[in-house]
Amino acid sequence: MNPFINLGIREDIVNAISELGFENPTPIQEQSIPVLLTGSNDFVGLAQTGTGKTAAFGLPLLELLDFEENYPQALVLCPTRELCLQITNDINNYSKKMGNVNVVAVYGGASISDQLRQIRRGVQIVVATPGRMLDIINRKAIDFTKVKFVVLDEADEMLNMGFQEDIDSILSTTPDTKKTWLFSATMPAEVRRIAKKYMNEPFELTMGTKNTGNANIEHEYYIVRARDKYAAFKRIVDFNPDIFGIVFCRTKIETQDIAESLMKDGYNADSLHGDLSQQQRDKVMKRYRERNLQLLIATDVAARGIDVNDVTHVINYSLPDEVENYTHRSGRTARAGKTGVSISIINAKELGKIRQIERGLGKKFVKAEIPTGFDVCEKQLFSIVHKIHDVEVNEQQIEQYLPRIMEEYKDLSKEDFIKRFASIEFNRFLDYYKNAPDLNAPVEEGRYDRERGERGERAPRGEGGKSEYTRLFINLGSVDEFNRGDLLGYICNNGKISGRTVGKIDVKGVYSFFEVPNAEAEAVINNFKGVDFKGREVRIEISGEGTSTTRSGGGERREGGYRGGERREGGGGYNRSGGGDRRDGGNRGGGNPSNAGFRDFSGKRREDRPERKRRF
Ligand code: AMP
Repeated sequence: MNPFINLGIREDIVNAISELGFENPTPIQEQSIPVLLTGSNDFVGLAQTGTGKTAAFGLPLLELLDFEENYPQALVLCPTRELCLQITNDINNYSKKMGNVNVVAVYGGASISDQLRQIRRGVQIVVATPGRMLDIINRKAIDFTKVKFVVLDEADEMLNMGFQEDIDSILSTTPDTKKTWLFSATMPAEVRRIAKKYMNEPFELTMGTKNTGNANIEHEYYIVRARDKYAAFKRIVDFNPDIFGIVFCRTKIETQDIAESLMKDGYNADSLHGDLSQQQRDKVMKRYRERNLQLLIATDVAARGIDVNDVTHVINYSLPDEVENYTHRSGRTARAGKTGVSISIINAKELGKIRQIERGLGKKFVKAEIPTGFDVCEKQLFSIVHKIHDVEVNEQQIEQYLPRIMEEYKDLSKEDFIKRFASIEFNRFLDYYKNAPDLNAPVEEGRYDRERGERGERAPRGEGGKSEYTRLFINLGSVDEFNRGDLLGYICNNGKISGRTVGKIDVKGVYSFFEVPNAEAEAVINNFKGVDFKGREVRIEISGEGTSTTRSGGGERREGGYRGGERREGGGGYNRSGGGDRRDGGNRGGGNPSNAGFRDFSGKRREDRPERKRRF
């Protein structure tokens, strides 16, 4: 039987949500729907955005209201116009096989007379932002005296935005007998207070721990010098060719500045902030939703209520002041059960803030290293390799050209051909990044993290900074779709080692490094004997001199075989420390690899084309 039927949802609704792809309830739906369906409880649900909250309250509302009557029976208050429209749309979708369900969206910045007309026609569910709702109440254009349910969605956001008084006034027009359901991603004292004020022994449901971000989000931070921040940011973006991200800045000016620089440098980026008109904001959001934009640069306020699935990365270009804001920012990724990464680019002085956020979230952040130019090239190369492999061929169109193409390539072996094809794009990135400097800021060893022994940055152990850890090489990496978390799990399972004892993990393109205590290294290597990954033998070897040193110790020996040289030490083609003539640091205006048209296969440089659309 369909699990939603088991939860008590009727068949016509289940049929409608099946069409939306809801096969199984999300955890919050599973736990809240049976409680809310009784209709007799106040309710507090602590849940992140993207967890399926809307259906968690929307489906019970559709079960509990009397749709033969045409007066307001439920009021849903939410912080933003975007969310208001989203909720209205969702409820309309859930109820599309029911008769006479009337939902009205009431929000500012749109014609009030249309909204009044819809209200006059008769509605059962009003979804509203507080300001416009109050306006309509003050015009005596709506009667809430028979409201049975009030939902306060994203309550913390509404309070952050200063809607406390409006909410008070609105709720004073509803009867005492109504039930109040409150949803919030975080539970600051103000939300506690309104829960106490409006509710009677509410049923409380906490998904995860309080103020905790979504478990599917990996939190990373990078330490860079202030002057290298923009270059480091771009490198992170280049290292993630399929990024679909939201970049948070603290001020409107910074937002605009970064967006403009990115656009100049050939990225598909645009800004979203409070100085834009509603129409401009809608336009930017439409482009982002449709993925014509790859990076959305936003302020906290402007990004509230953004509800776009599949955001792969949230980047904190500037850290927020409040832990709660960090939770909201990072909650824009890893929606609907997906995974996501929240990245913070900081300077060494801001480490204290990271620790504060870690404490607030109860979650450890991973210190990551800004990829080297070579890492970026490698990543981009394999991105192309994958794209070539997976590209959809238009047989009909290409067929007419095939004889000429074949003729042109007839003297090339398959291997030669592949090498040349991949090199068309690869060479450009190589060219750009050949003298790329190291952008990681030197952090005084142990000054901040000596005692923490965290996975990202290991403080010196033992005498003279020599590690008691062995650095191992493994021939699996990001091209095998491993991130740090996945690789840790894989190492623990196959190497038969506890995750707690595994040290720094450095995921590269086709290989990675990880640290294990010296005493366990041999056992891990042995345990991996005979293990294969998708038919490929997994190889573990001791890297370098056998023991790792800390970052300041340097001296990492890289795999010459994969890299064609020891770039770290400046041999081979890539000289990290060599300074060079083309620092991407102060080079906002040009010389960007994205300008090289890396992501499309047209073979034209960006200068030849006005705009690069749809990078993926
Ligand atoms: P929400 O937290 O309500 O904004 O939901 C986040 C996303 O998850 C939306 O795109 C929903 O359509 C989707 N969603 C909600 N519930 C389910 C479910 N049971 N199965 C699949 N997707 C869902």
